[in-house]
Formats: sequence, C-alpha cells, structure tokens
Amino acid sequence: MHVHVYVETSSKLKTVTKAVHDHGCEVKQLAPKVYEVKVHDPNGDAEDEVTEYMNEAGITAFVSYENPLDAGKPKAFDLLICGNLLSIVVTGGKNGSKGGNIESGLPRETCPSCGSPDCCHSCDQSQMENVGDDDDNPCDGEENDDVAGRLAYNGFVDAIESIALAHACAGIKVDDRKYIEGLNSALEAAGNNL
Ligand SMILES: [Zn+2]
Repeated sequence: MHVHVYVETSSKLKTVTKAVHDHGCEVKQLAPKVYEVKVHDPNGDAEDEVTEYMNEAGITAFVSYENPLDAGKPKAFDLLICGNLLSIVVTGGKNGSKGGNIESGLPRETCPSCGSPDCCHSCDQSQMENVGDDDDNPCDGEENDDVAGRLAYNGFVDAIESIALAHACAGIKVDDRKYIEGLNSALEAAGNNL
C-alpha cells in the first residue's frame, strides 16, 4: 500500500529527493518548504520511516501524515465498523486547539416497544406489554435483563465513539486499517459479552 507523508524542511527539493529516492519514494513539492512524499508502507509506519531517511541524509525535517497546508481545515474520517458507518469530523486551528464531532454514529439497540435507545421500560407501550408479564409469551415487551443489556451495550457504543473522536482530535490516524480492526474487535466483544 502506498501512502503520503508530508515533509517540512528548508532543504531543497533535490536534497529531499536524493534522501528518499533509494527507498523507492517519490517526492513532490507542494509549497516552499513543504514536500509530499509517496512511500510504500506495508507496516503503517511511513512517518517514522521517512523521518529516518531524512535523519540519515542529515536533513532537519518534520514529517507527518497530515498535510500542513490543510491545517485548520475540517478533516473527515469515514470508518466502516462492523458494517456500519462511523463518520468523524475533526475541526481545528493551527495552534493545536482541536475539536470535532460525530457526523454519523454507530447504531444503538432500541426499545422494541417505542424504538428509543434510552428507554428503560418507561414508555407507555412497554408498560402495557409487560402487564402480567409472561416469559413464554413472545409478544411480550422487552424483559428486564434485555433492557439492562441493551443500555450497557449502548453505553459501550457511546464510549467507543468518544474514544475514536478523541483519538482523531489528538491526531491519531483513526482511518488506519489496524485501528479500525481494533474498533471492530472491541464492538464485537461488547456485542458478545452483554
Ligand atoms: Zn420503550
């Protein structure tokens, strides 16, 4: 897989190209002192690799996955978690003050009577359906155990979204394949355990 990293340095295009050329990278100058380096990255550590190439060539440089020319612009991450879209938007200033929001969240489990994810046997429908509660009756409302499990699961989904958003704001590459695999496993585990 090829990825792009961004190199900020006062060194010339020729010098930067020479430093990474033997490693199979391509360099493009985007602006004065800003270069885009295309690098083959099977391990997900392109940032470190390119930093190393620069150091070896004696070039003082700052290497990042983030294009410094995009600093301050909103950045969207669309993650496919267990077949559902989690869309995160990070907005932020150059001074490091970043914020963000969940544009499109993961699905919650909902009350079968009223359809609300937060309902705790409080809606009229579930109250009525649970009158003379009969465990063998499939037309009954949701059982108490199920309510607790549903609310716990939804709380877990809240937590996963909050962590992913915080990580995205902190500059972690949340659309990295390995990161997404991690979220998938966490959500699957939550679904199995509750
Ligand atoms: Zn309800």
